[in-house]
Amino acid sequence: MSILSNRAKGLKPSPTLAINAKAKAMQAQGIRVVSFGAGEPDFDTPENIKRAAIKSIEEGFTKYTAVGGIDELKDAVIHKFQRDNQLTYKRSQILISCGGKHSFYNLAQALFDRGDEVIIPAPYWVSYPPMVALAEAKPVIIETKEENGFKVTPEELKKAITPRTKALVLNSPSNPTGSAYTKKELEKIAEIAISHKFFVISDEIYEKIVYDGFEFRSIASLGEEIKGRTIIVHGVAKTYAMTGWRIGYAAGPEEIISAMSNIQSQSTSNPTSISQKASVEALIGPQEEVKKMLSAFTERRNYIVDRLNEISGVSCFKPIGAFYVFPNFSEYYGKSYQGKKISNSTELADYFLNVARVAVVPGVEFGADPFERLSYATSMKDIREGIDRIEDALKKLS
Ligand code: PLP
Repeated sequence: MSILSNRAKGLKPSPTLAINAKAKAMQAQGIRVVSFGAGEPDFDTPENIKRAAIKSIEEGFTKYTAVGGIDELKDAVIHKFQRDNQLTYKRSQILISCGGKHSFYNLAQALFDRGDEVIIPAPYWVSYPPMVALAEAKPVIIETKEENGFKVTPEELKKAITPRTKALVLNSPSNPTGSAYTKKELEKIAEIAISHKFFVISDEIYEKIVYDGFEFRSIASLGEEIKGRTIIVHGVAKTYAMTGWRIGYAAGPEEIISAMSNIQSQSTSNPTSISQKASVEALIGPQEEVKKMLSAFTERRNYIVDRLNEISGVSCFKPIGAFYVFPNFSEYYGKSYQGKKISNSTELADYFLNVARVAVVPGVEFGADPFERLSYATSMKDIREGIDRIEDALKKLS
């Protein structure tokens, strides 16, 4: 009998976290690495949020809470959905978890059985297929096209549907491409979900990071019928620079939320009490800091997209949201450095790290090998230097 379960044996660690760890290890040896790896804002958590956490410690709010989150935070989430999305939920339709990733994990465990098919458009966030597979369901990948803004078309979606289709995963704005669906596009998807009776998992964690006045819409807000088939996965990490606080939330039909809560009660129990109090302040307190961060992201996005597109043989889609670019480097595949050929996104990412001292995440991890993902949630100085280094490294290939 082998020591490890088949489930554990087949599982790789998250590649984004692995690359960050590698970059950090190099930095610890005194090597200056420019990291485009991390999927986290470089800003500090806003002061008012930190103060709310400190106050909760001082007041002794340091014990177990209700498994699914404190009512005060559920009410703040309900307030957020009403204020920002005109969506009405009851407390029984909200679950607070230890990050958006945990929300998705609970949901996959609550919703999927062996043999269920879950449609995931690629490029996708790295963790969706493994979390679906951990629930013994089958990820069904649809490759979207760059010329369609990396969005799944109704025709592509219909082709992937079978009687076993249980859900579609939508991530708008998207990690890694920065694409985002318009209301019209969402309406078409909603129609298909309703007529084929599958669920939509709508990961809206980048809702607040959208550019050029793009109007974010939640698919759940398009009518009662689609709302009844949608589970929103969300969190405070990206909007409020709170990645380390580990608070995510889900909203959806009571039966599903209640099953997710049972799974949470037998695994992690409640998310951190202190972080819950901080998240109340994040969601209902002043929102000025969010605007400031967005304005910095906008400047960085404009700069990095222009710089990448100026490099010969590189093309880069201009993101509508989130804080990643996903440039196509495939023109360089087949070229060599010191006799060593670079054939794919993993080898190119290794080359960038080892030769240029720049950390990026290979596109293959997101289901799209021609690309690399660069997070621009880092300083303008690092972005300038990192792109200079990438440009120089590409020139060395022949
Ligand atoms: N969803 C997407 C698309 C993400 O990019 C991330 C983080 O990288 C998450 C969910 C999870 O975020 P967290 O678990 O930190 O709340």
